[in-house]
Amino acid sequence: MVLFEKAPAKINLSLDVLSKRDDGYHNVEMIMTTIDLADRITLRSINRDRIEVSLESRFVPSDERNLAYKAANAFKQKYGIKTGVHIHIEKSIPVSAGLGGGSTDAAAVLRGMNRLWKLDIPTSELATIGATIGSDVPFCVYGNTAIAKGRGEIIEPLSSPPSCWVVLAKPDIGVSTRTIFQRIQVEGLSHPNTSAIMDALRQKHFHKMCAHIGNVLEDITLAVYPEVQRIKCRMEQAGASGVLMSGSGPTVYSLVEHQSKAQRIYNGMRGFCEEVYLVRLLG
Ligand code: ATP
Repeated sequence: MVLFEKAPAKINLSLDVLSKRDDGYHNVEMIMTTIDLADRITLRSINRDRIEVSLESRFVPSDERNLAYKAANAFKQKYGIKTGVHIHIEKSIPVSAGLGGGSTDAAAVLRGMNRLWKLDIPTSELATIGATIGSDVPFCVYGNTAIAKGRGEIIEPLSSPPSCWVVLAKPDIGVSTRTIFQRIQVEGLSHPNTSAIMDALRQKHFHKMCAHIGNVLEDITLAVYPEVQRIKCRMEQAGASGVLMSGSGPTVYSLVEHQSKAQRIYNGMRGFCEEVYLVRLLG
């Protein structure tokens, strides 16, 4: 039996850090939504009780360090499954980009294995397994648009954003989420207005959404990587309004209401940055 599962990337409409926890992690509030830029996961049952991962990427290991492998392993252990699985990952989402590439692959494996073996496990339970793999995995299990709280494991679905285009530009660097989180000083942060974004989503108010998107990690990443700042300025000069870094970066995105304008911004950015994408919001 073979099945396919789409693993879409996410962007952060907001990323706020509320406090540092005793376990070393941070309490966060993040509004995330999925975009039409996706990896494609193929799952195939195999007779031997093992997990195999194949993919073509210079940056992602295909062994037990792969988050898709970790998800399969956690799933098999939890439900005592003795059948093996081959996971093929066709990567389209840039790696270490702030777009949740590894997390969405892990989430897709959890959803896919549930279908592969017809187990009917509720999404909330898959998300609980996902939380043991990474903070963004629970959101990716649900997809669409949601706010994630706690370490990222408390998920509340939200209204989907007004339909719009997204231009993404990724400078040629990878950012370690861990390193950026280590630099946070919670006391000095200026927090995004999360509830105003939630209102904008409810009202499907494009301009209000753009006015309130915010990410407390942006200043930290911009200070370490000036090229991210340059990309941000360039996007704004190109006429983009809702411009923000996603996750811990370095990808910068811009929300654009009309396709013709999105195309202009995309064309302008392509002369400036090698990896540029023009996609729609899915969430
Ligand atoms: P986030 O926004 O959730 O912080 P990210 O987009 O910044 O994630 P990823 O693309 O998930 O970052 O990659 C982070 C690290 O995870 C890289 O070092 C990569 O090698 C590793 N990794 C493990 N499995 C995967 C996978 N299936 N896809 C991408 N990266 C993976």
